[in-house]
Formats: sequence, C-alpha cells, structure tokens
Amino acid sequence: MRYAMFGGNGTMGRWFRNAITLNAPSFSLVCIGDNDEKQQGKIVEGVEIVDADSFAEKYRRGEFDIVIVSIDYRWLRLNSVIQQLARLGVDKMYIFPQYLYDWKEEYFDIEDNLINVDTSKPCFNGNLNLSIIRNCNLNCKGCGMFANLFKEECIADFTQYKKDLLRIKELFWDARYIGIFGGEPLLNKEVGEYVKLSRELFPSADIMVETNGILLSKCSDELLKIMKNNHAHFLITPYTLSKNIGESIKQRCDNFGIKYLYRSDNTNSGFRTSFYKALNSIGEKQIDLSYSDCVKRGSNYNWHIKNGYISSCQFPLYIDKFNECFSNVFTVSDKDIMYIYDESLDGYQVLDFLSSPKPFCKYCAYKEERIFFDWTRSSKNPERSEWLVNEVEK
Ligand code: SF4
Repeated sequence: MRYAMFGGNGTMGRWFRNAITLNAPSFSLVCIGDNDEKQQGKIVEGVEIVDADSFAEKYRRGEFDIVIVSIDYRWLRLNSVIQQLARLGVDKMYIFPQYLYDWKEEYFDIEDNLINVDTSKPCFNGNLNLSIIRNCNLNCKGCGMFANLFKEECIADFTQYKKDLLRIKELFWDARYIGIFGGEPLLNKEVGEYVKLSRELFPSADIMVETNGILLSKCSDELLKIMKNNHAHFLITPYTLSKNIGESIKQRCDNFGIKYLYRSDNTNSGFRTSFYKALNSIGEKQIDLSYSDCVKRGSNYNWHIKNGYISSCQFPLYIDKFNECFSNVFTVSDKDIMYIYDESLDGYQVLDFLSSPKPFCKYCAYKEERIFFDWTRSSKNPERSEWLVNEVEK
C-alpha cells in the first residue's frame, strides 16, 4: 500500500509514520505534504516534503493509494486543511484517531484505525461536553456546574443524549473529544452506556469520563471493561479529600489497562486546591474583553450540548439552577445558545456560532477581577456569593 501523509512531518505526523512502520510493514511512504514553507523541500525517509498543490497533483496522477491527514485537532486547523485539499481535488482522505497519539498507544491495527473523512462536512474539532448527571458527591463551594445547588437527583435523559449525539453526527463527520461529565458522572449508574454509545457514533473521538475520582476505586469491573473495550479514558480532578485513594485508583485502572490523566492546578501539590468566583451579576462587562481572556471556554474550546442546544461554555446551559435558586439573576438570550435541530443548519454554521463572544459574556469578570479562594466543600445551603465577584460572603 503506497501512502501519502499531509502534515506528515509535524510531531504527530512523525509519530504516526513510526507507528505505520511498526505495525504495517506493507505500507510504504511515497509522499509528505505540508503547508509550512520551512518544511517544504526537505527529504525525509527518502521522500520530499511538498506543498499542497504538488501533493494534490501527485494524488490526481495516482502516485499513491491513500492519503492520511495528520493535523493536531487542538489547533483547529484540521477542517481548513481538509477543505484546502478537497478544493484541490483530493476527494478521499483518512485520519487516525488522535487519542492513539495523545495516549501513545503505538501498537494498533493500522487499517482498522483509518477513519474515513467525509469532505462534505466539518469535524467537530472542539471539546464536546455532555453532563450525564447534575448531582455530585463532593459539592465544591462555587462549583462551575452549580452541582452543589441540587438537592434532588437530576440525571440526564439517555434518549435525549443519544438524539443529540446523532444530530451532531449528521452535522459533522466526527468529533475529536467527548467529555462525559457531571456533577460526578460515576454517580450515574448507566455511565457505561453513554461511553459505548459515544464510541459507536464517534470512532476517532477521545472519550473522557471527567471525575473527581472518589468513586473510581469502587466502580464495577463491568464499567472498567467497557472503558477499556471502547478506548475511553478517565480525566481525574483530585481534591485533597481524595488524598488517600490515589494508589487504589492507580491499581484499579492499571489492572484493567485503562489510561487516565490527573488534572490538578498549577501548585506542586498534585491537587486542585483553589476555585474562583467568575460571575458579576451586574452584567456590564464588554463581551469582547470577557471573551478574550475567558478560561472556561478553554484553549481546547470547551463547548457544551444539552437537550438540543449547544453553547460555547457551560454557563448559558447550566445557569438555570442558579437562577432557580436565586431569583433569576442572569438572563440567557437566544443568542447565547443554538438549537441544533434547525433544518437549515450545517456544521460550519455551528462552529462559527461557537467561536464568537456571546451576550452572556457580559456577566463574566475580567481576569484581574476574578476572586480566588481555597477549595472547600460547600455548605448545605450555598449562598450566591460563592459565585459572584460583586457580593461579599456573609
Ligand atoms: S460567558 Fe463568555 S466569557 Fe463567560 S465563560 Fe462563557 S464564553 Fe467565557
């Protein structure tokens, strides 16, 4: 099999080329393409790195059997490169699931893991986050998902989750990251079903169950087998309360061969030690300024979907509980969220919508106004000052 790789000499491209050499000796590299002029003209493995025009010309002349695109989705360039190549006549392309590279799973079946690109649609190339339960077993003070305000159990409807993911699948040829989170997702006994469905629909997505880890040492073997069989991972935010369970989490995941990542803050403690207040109920911030130094949205673009609506951060979709508890402090307008079932919509319009400031940004404190406090659990009856920079705690 003669293959060509576009983006083939970046860090990820080099890693996948090595994996091909390791796992599929019958594959031979015949061309590398790259938009970076500094790379063009170099000879790698006896092959010259060429620009997109020359790459496409070689494709049209039938100099290789398959095209593999290797562009790190985190930089949001994947869709533009695919469109560029499609415009130049490259109508059949594949990618590898990026989680293989991110998690350094270097032994894998090459042909089974080549994912076909549908050039008529974009890839959903931010983080697609879905909450499967609003409750939490930890109830942190100032929780960004307002989980500590829930007194009754509040579990997401699996049918709606499936419907929403199916709609995303109609609009996009794949999604690169699916965050299954809560509250605490391991409180939802059906978490394995969400993992299976997400993998069935999105073969190249990095599927991550985002947990505080407390229930990990106790969760069922069945769930861990599902995680392993579906190449799903845990993203664990450890708090000082989970100090004593680190080793049991490690053992449990290692026994099942599941990879996991710890997400602490920037201190050397290894834990998440602080939270911050980020909302200003007065709502007079300039939305462009709030948006430009927004950390909730995150460098990986943390987009959220809930009950048929999508938003560029969690607030417009999850502020409902805060408003219910504290007399509708915040206004969510129809410009903050997008209804994904509008038939005239395509995936590119969804990405455009998600990538721009929203009216709700007027409530977000600028960087220098955020108020940090040490992590602690919330009281039984949280006060709104846990979230608001413009209100002093009693
Ligand atoms: S409302 Fe705007 S500024 Fe605030 S977290 Fe969301 S995207 Fe960021």
